[in-house]
Amino acid sequence: APVIVLFNRDLRVHDHPALHAAAADGPVVPLFVTDPRILRRAARNRIRHLCEALADLRTALRARGGELFVREGETVPEALRTAAATGARAVFATADVSDAARRRERALAEEGRRAGVEFRAFPGATVVPPGAITPAGGGHYRVFTPYLRAWERTGRRPVLPAPDRVAVPEGLPSGELPGPDAVRRGRGALSPEVPRGGEEPARARLRAWSEGPLSDYGDRRDLLAADATSRLSADLRFGCLSPLEVAEEARGRPGADAFVRQLAWRDFHHQVAADFPGIARRDYRPRGTAWRDDPGGLEAWREGRTGIPIVDAGMRQLLREGFMHNRARMLTAAFLTRGLRVHWRRGAEHFHDLLLDGDIADNHGNWQWVAGTGNDTRPNRRTNLLRQARRFDPDGTYVRRYLPELAGLPGGRAHTPWAEQDPPADYPPPLLDPSEGLGGD
Ligand code: FAD
Repeated sequence: APVIVLFNRDLRVHDHPALHAAAADGPVVPLFVTDPRILRRAARNRIRHLCEALADLRTALRARGGELFVREGETVPEALRTAAATGARAVFATADVSDAARRRERALAEEGRRAGVEFRAFPGATVVPPGAITPAGGGHYRVFTPYLRAWERTGRRPVLPAPDRVAVPEGLPSGELPGPDAVRRGRGALSPEVPRGGEEPARARLRAWSEGPLSDYGDRRDLLAADATSRLSADLRFGCLSPLEVAEEARGRPGADAFVRQLAWRDFHHQVAADFPGIARRDYRPRGTAWRDDPGGLEAWREGRTGIPIVDAGMRQLLREGFMHNRARMLTAAFLTRGLRVHWRRGAEHFHDLLLDGDIADNHGNWQWVAGTGNDTRPNRRTNLLRQARRFDPDGTYVRRYLPELAGLPGGRAHTPWAEQDPPADYPPPLLDPSEGLGGD
């Protein structure tokens, strides 16, 4: 009897433990269920990326004699209906930490048992599975450094090759991949400059990264204009790359330590989210100061018209590319939560509507970290936007790249348009003084 491999955020054939186990054991039904209710709440940028990644996965499975079967509806009943139609004995899936994913896993286990279909969850979404390392007292690690030490000591499973052959049952209709209609119904704007989604382009990106710019990562990752980070976050978000394979691919190469530490940050946020599922809605820890309502400020921030170039450049990068440099994410988030004192949730929502890599564990975890309600050990640190701008974009290249209004201001002058004798007419005055340190409480 076949095994259903239920794909979700693991859209690849390489290093896919669930697919690997199923394919080694007989016929497989690779299945993706598009749930219109979930898609309506998702960002257009991500839906388009998902469509591309699914098309790529179907091609990869067909090249192995298989197929990607697509059904529309609610995941659990659709998976069980497909199990009944094919006589499948089990459903295999990659374990995930989001609220919705865990509810789905529980329902598959319970309803599957009633229907005589076994459910098994496999690793593959993180380098180290969320439950694999826990502090002595139980619960989850709240501070990164001790987590990292434990993470580095933890053994790794081997990276698995893609199966040579994926045998699928005959006569089962393949179903239609989601397309432009699904994209249209999503949230947020469509960014014009985004990379193509899918395992094949992702693997090409990984190769180009690890054989090239990775070696300078440690020195250049914070330089905004250098764009010297991997940009693999969306590929990891959709599971077109296995985080374990990315870590192993980098291991031992120059620059790898700093890069692999970032993958540990990703795992860290996932183990927090696994143990604190309220991360999307509730403060991880309370903050002293009250939040403020500032609809005008929030709108200016969203549009990249706060009058502070380093903030606006980040926000326009997000609109244009569905991506923002990590340093700019920290500064734009500090501006909103520590400067305007607008609740981090408003900011996280806007990021989530646009980011290709948008993921609750990472996005909300990082927002709370910046806002001072998360697991930062120094939640009251002060951020000086102007000093940060001069340090990480010394000659203003990043700012000019995204703000055509400032094209006429050479070098570091692009960071202080208000100080010009003749400030650019089409650029607004600053909403707050960026040379003042933005505090926490
Ligand atoms: P690289 O520097 O090349 O890092 C390699 C990988 O490590 C990334 O692809 C990513 O998977 C992981 N990583 C790096 N930094 C972090 C971090 N701080 N937390 C978790 N994982 C990390 N990352 C997301 O993947 N999704 C999000 O929704 C997201 N929201 C964020 C919101 C805020 C306010 C902040 C400050 C950060 C957020 N990040 C998020 C983390 C980080 O900014 C991005 O992962 C990174 O910029 C992606 O670029 P890269 O792939 O070139 O990263």
